[in-house]
Amino acid sequence: MSLKELEETCDLVSGLLQANNHDLGASVGALLPDAEARGNRERRRFGDNQHNTVYLPGPSHEMQVWHVSLMLAEYLADLLGRKVKDGHCGAPGHAPCATMRAEHRFMFEQYRKALEKLVDDVSQLEATL
Ligand SMILES: [Zn+2]
Repeated sequence: MSLKELEETCDLVSGLLQANNHDLGASVGALLPDAEARGNRERRRFGDNQHNTVYLPGPSHEMQVWHVSLMLAEYLADLLGRKVKDGHCGAPGHAPCATMRAEHRFMFEQYRKALEKLVDDVSQLEATL
């Protein structure tokens, strides 16, 4: 994943959120075609027809969750990064705001650490398999 791809995913999810009045449930539903397209671009296909177990981008919920979860993580990372860069602040006339830039930087760092913990937890699970 490149920084450009993070930015593109952020723009995509932002557009869907705006189009759906910031209703996350509706926006995630609207994201499914893009998640399927991404899965196809990445050629994510698992399983075996002879075992009646196949995971394809689009129809299988496993592949939907795979791509939607990554896209949402990319969205939030890029969004928080933008807020740090912009000094985002909700108070009129504050932006760029040094106080909220520091708070968003802290939030970004905590989010990154949460993602790192997730990867560590997944690695620990993998080691038990
Ligand atoms: Zn402020």
